[in-house]
Amino acid sequence: RASSSPASSGEAAFEPTRAARRHLVQPWPVAGEIGDEARGLIGEGDGVHVSDGEGNWLIDGPAGMWCVNVGHRRRELAEVLHDQAMALSYNSPWYTMNEPSARLAERIAAHAPGDLDHVFFTTGGSTAVESALRFMQFYNNVRGRPEKKVILSRGGAYHGSTFLSASLNGRPRDRDWMDGVDDLVVKLSCPDPFRRPAGMSVESFSDKLVAEFAETVERIAAERIGAFVGEPIMASGGVIVPPPDYLKRIAAICRDNDILFVSDEVVTAFGRLGEVFASQSVFGIEPDIITFAKGVTSGYFPLGGMVVSARLFDEIRRSNRSEAMYAHGLTYSSHPVGCAVALKNLDLLEGGILEHAREIAPYFQDRLKSLEELPLVGEVRGAGLMACVECVADRESRNPLTLDKEVGKRIDAHCHELGLLVRPLIHMCVMSPPLIITREQIDRMVAILHEGISRTMDDLRQEGLW
Ligand code: PMP
Repeated sequence: RASSSPASSGEAAFEPTRAARRHLVQPWPVAGEIGDEARGLIGEGDGVHVSDGEGNWLIDGPAGMWCVNVGHRRRELAEVLHDQAMALSYNSPWYTMNEPSARLAERIAAHAPGDLDHVFFTTGGSTAVESALRFMQFYNNVRGRPEKKVILSRGGAYHGSTFLSASLNGRPRDRDWMDGVDDLVVKLSCPDPFRRPAGMSVESFSDKLVAEFAETVERIAAERIGAFVGEPIMASGGVIVPPPDYLKRIAAICRDNDILFVSDEVVTAFGRLGEVFASQSVFGIEPDIITFAKGVTSGYFPLGGMVVSARLFDEIRRSNRSEAMYAHGLTYSSHPVGCAVALKNLDLLEGGILEHAREIAPYFQDRLKSLEELPLVGEVRGAGLMACVECVADRESRNPLTLDKEVGKRIDAHCHELGLLVRPLIHMCVMSPPLIITREQIDRMVAILHEGISRTMDDLRQEGLW
């Protein structure tokens, strides 16, 4: 459906593409198209599928943006949204509270590792990370160590689009044209085993990363470092699964040096890796703060948050700075509708979807791995129900294909024609479908990807680009 049908009154048909080009500013535009861009229209969603502007149904390969975990068109979630909006659509979290947020905090605390049992709700992932970082600043200020504020992040990371959270981003192009709080952030190497130095084992690569971390702490001095922020698996950086034990070793250094470990589980929590939170159950780490968003409501309502160690709150209370205010909060913190949706979403996840995700994940990974037989594909990697197909110029050198080849976009365009929505990332395609995906749907997804990549290889050959 490129445009809706004209109203019987003879009113002109609404043309979404035209209106968008004139008035809608899209996220992440390039200067040449800014304020004048229309993107592929999505009409409806149902289960693991979405329809496009022409009414074709496609498998939603990225589940929106890694978020529609329980799938589209869940009546239970729509009903809760409606019922809560009718009961109480909003209350000010400044001086009142609501029941859904208290219930949700209790349930999230029960799932979080160790003593992480204090939950603060935000509007999404960026505000969750921002809240965690501002909390770290407050925590160190009241403890009388205002110099302990440096934040460690890594190449390949993505943590958000607010000023401080975006300062942590380390993917190529994230910061080329955008400012950041550079005096507060130090970037470490990306723990990508596929791009480890030639001839080096994964174990030695891990040693090298851990040594770099330890040396950085030494060089800057632990007294100046407030937090390390890391995604357990870097999602938007290309589903980078770090070497085994790497996170545990980094967490140990943080613990020894009183550096807060902020595990950014905006993507990995709420089922993507088969668990509500993955930090401890999958990676064996007990962070000080976990940030979450996306899957917490399966994208039915914008909500995020952080769950914080009780120890940090105890220390703040014990600091004898009772007048100090954590001057941070959002109009939509603890939104009653969002929290009610999240509670029902958690019921659905616990009612069988997490188990299904755990069961089907090996099949998903295994089938996608078969794409490595295509010469354009350098590596297929992933965990749980998130994976990345990385294309290379040549398998020997592992050099990525450059942006101008538009490999991700080409694969996406072919797959779209064949019935699959793909998330292109320069020379990579990321897959993170709704967790309810079946074996048959995985087979179809992989078959389409195979054909889409084959057609892309033909194009590149014909154009003499590969
Ligand atoms: N952290 C991670 C790991 C993310 O992947 C994202 C979004 N892709 C964010 C933070 C920011 O979340 P949001 O877009 O909801 O602000």
